[in-house]
Amino acid sequence: MNSHKDIPVSVIGGGLAGAEASWQLARRGFLVDLYEMRPHRMTPAHSSAFLAELVCSNSLGADGITSPAGILKDELRKMDSLIMQCADGAKVAAGRALAVDRQIFADMVTDRISSLPNIRLIREEMTEVPEGPAIIATGPLTSPSMAESLAGLIGEGFLYFFDAVSPVLTLESVNMEKAFWGSRYEKGDDYLNCPMDKESYLAFWDQLVKAQRAPRHELDRDIRYFEGCLPVEEIASRGVDTLRFGPMKPVGLPDPSTGKEAYGVVQLRRDNREGSLFNMVGFQTSLKWGEQDRVFRMIPALENAEFVRYGVMHRNIYVNAPRVLKSSLELVSRQGIYLAGQITGVEGYVESTATGLMAAINLASSLKGLPEPLWPRESALGSLSFYLQDAEPDSFKPMNVNLGIFPPLGKRIRHRLEKCRMVSERAEGAMKEFLDSHPVFQELDFRQ
Ligand SMILES: Cc1cc2nc3c(=O)[nH]c(=O)nc-3n(C[C@H](O)[C@H](O)[C@H](O)COP(=O)(O)OP(=O)(O)OC[C@H]3O[C@@H](n4cnc5c(N)ncnc54)[C@H](O)[C@@H]3O)c2cc1C
Repeated sequence: MNSHKDIPVSVIGGGLAGAEASWQLARRGFLVDLYEMRPHRMTPAHSSAFLAELVCSNSLGADGITSPAGILKDELRKMDSLIMQCADGAKVAAGRALAVDRQIFADMVTDRISSLPNIRLIREEMTEVPEGPAIIATGPLTSPSMAESLAGLIGEGFLYFFDAVSPVLTLESVNMEKAFWGSRYEKGDDYLNCPMDKESYLAFWDQLVKAQRAPRHELDRDIRYFEGCLPVEEIASRGVDTLRFGPMKPVGLPDPSTGKEAYGVVQLRRDNREGSLFNMVGFQTSLKWGEQDRVFRMIPALENAEFVRYGVMHRNIYVNAPRVLKSSLELVSRQGIYLAGQITGVEGYVESTATGLMAAINLASSLKGLPEPLWPRESALGSLSFYLQDAEPDSFKPMNVNLGIFPPLGKRIRHRLEKCRMVSERAEGAMKEFLDSHPVFQELDFRQ
């Protein structure tokens, strides 16, 4: 009789998520067929044949447990992450961030993967979702035929090709003395409204039209915006009042503190079911991130806003995770097919790596007949995974790791560093218990 380890597992895509997933599966003794289409077929952003090529910045973000990104890195390191080992090995000086020499990094990942006897690296484009067991980690620039095949499996409407994201901020950073709850024409209390008087509106408009926009990436040059999804700065540049007839329309929203309609209103809509995160309705933007901080904090209720995700407008292929993925990252519509990386609806190098690791361990558990690993909600890994299930499906947007996706601490902590430290301590305890108790972690002596 064949053991589970004789069944080859296909991993499609040798980027950050695919390399991590292959490593985690191979380390557990599985035979892995890793399909990478480069160099025969390139994406519009990659330029080499190396695995885990970083297509843009060489920074993997903040390190150390005083940041959410650092907490995630810490958890990955404790789980024998290949990407973290190579990133640490290729590190260059960058203050509190973990930045790498991209060539050394990609070289190391390629070498480590190629040296494992149970990984077969196949340089081929996979044009269809294969028979399982498989992990699809083809990234934000998935080849068109694979994207089409996936869309056919999950439903056309659940695969997106473009991100038009409004900034997301934490509820606790909103000045509630200057905001009020209510839906237009008193149809409920779903929105948090940030009113502006004429003076503050005009000052805001003036800075918005002058603010610096991010340069458009080569990839995005040919993207034409839909009229219904224009960047907020573009709407503003059409005239001083255009926003007041669009996303900042005050009609039907009387401010309870004055009993009158304000001059303009920014509406915030719930972004997760827990209600800790809110997005700025109709504020999709391509302003530089520093400019988003500066200009959007001119809205009186948002003077101290903590943005956990900035607005962006760029090409990106990802699925509607709350609708099409199970908590294990397996497709609802096809047993044995898991997704990993940016295509799941996470955003960022380390987040993509994290879903590669989780998908591999979830799949390994399933093939071994073990219970599904329940990634602790208090951990960064568990919080990312929870977001993919819990986010509002109708307005689902990709997310990076940030304090807003962790469960609340139950008390208000003013200092961000202190808050991160407490979140980190809680996460560490939960992860330790998880790693000690789930059988999929017992057979490997990988913990540092
Ligand atoms: C232009 C751009 C810039 C970005 N910049 C940053 C940044 O600076 N910082 C950051 O944190 N994140 C950035 N991201 C977001 C994201 O973190 C990266 O794209 C990250 O590499 C995603 O990891 P991944 O493993 O999901 O995909 P990738 O790393 O892109 O890996 C996917 C792999 O699949 C291969 N592939 C695709 N289709 C097929 C197929 N059909 N068959 C076989 N192989 C296939 C590709 O060649 C590629 O090697 C950027 C994204 C883009 C598009």
